[in-house]
Amino acid sequence: MSELILERLVVGYGDGAPVLDGLDLTVADGAVVALLGANGAGKTTLLRALAGLTPARSGRILLGGTDLTGLAPEDRVRRGLALVPEGRGVVVELTVEENLRLGALWRHRGAARQRALDEAFELFEPLARRRHAAGHTLSGGERRMLALARALIAGPDVLLLDEPSLGLAPLVTAHLLGVLHETAARTGTTVLLAEQNVTGALSVADRGVVLNLGEVVADRPAAELSGDPRLRHAYLGF
Ligand code: ATP
Repeated sequence: MSELILERLVVGYGDGAPVLDGLDLTVADGAVVALLGANGAGKTTLLRALAGLTPARSGRILLGGTDLTGLAPEDRVRRGLALVPEGRGVVVELTVEENLRLGALWRHRGAARQRALDEAFELFEPLARRRHAAGHTLSGGERRMLALARALIAGPDVLLLDEPSLGLAPLVTAHLLGVLHETAARTGTTVLLAEQNVTGALSVADRGVVLNLGEVVADRPAAELSGDPRLRHAYLGF
C-alpha cells in the first residue's frame, strides 16, 4: 500500500516566507491526481518537497505509513518515489535505449530488465522507432515521452510529474497524457501531475487538487472540478 499523506507541511526557500504553509493532503494508493493552480501557487514546491529537494521546515510526509520527511532524495527514490522535473530528465549524449536502460538498471535484473524495456517500447511506440537515436536529436515531445518512460520503467509506486505537457503541441500532449493514464491504470502507480494544462490534466486524473497561495482550496473528483464554473473561474483561469 502506498497511500501518500502530507500533514501540516511547511516549505519555503531560504529565510523567505513559507510557500506551503501547513498543507494537508491525502492521495489514495493508485490515484492519479492533477495538481492545479496559477503560476506561483506552489505546485513545483510541493513536488520538490515530496522528492526531498526542498526540505520541509515542519510537518510530515508519509508514504504507506513510512515517514519520509527527513530522508535524503535518493532514499525516497529507493522507497518508491520518482520525480520527473519540468523539461528535463533525458541524457542527451545517450540514445533512447541507453536512456531507458539507465532508468531500468537498479530495479530489474537480467531477463526482467529486458522485459521492462520491451514493455516501455510497446507503450511508447514513437520511442521504439527512434530507439537508436541520440537524445539530442529528439523533438521536445519525444524527450518528454522518454523522460516519462524512463521514470516509469523503474516501477515507482508514486510518480511526480512537473508540467509534462509544457510547450508541446496539443496532439503530442494528448498522446503523452493518454499513455500516462493507461500505464497508471495498468500498474497501479500513484501519480501527482502538476499542470497548467487544466483540461488535459483533469481528463486523465481521478481527482483534482487546486493550490492557491500554498494552500489546498479544492480537492474533488476530476469530473466535478472541471464542471464547476466558479472554481474554474476563480483559480484556474478559464
Ligand atoms: P509555476 O507553474 O510557475 O511553476 P508553481 O505553482 O509551480 O508555479 P512554485 O514554482 O512552487 O509555483 O512557486 C511558488 C512560490 O515559490 C513562488 O512565489 C516562487 O517565486 C517561489 N519560489 C520558487 N522557487 C524558488 C526558489 N528557488 N527560491 C525562492 N523562491 C522560490
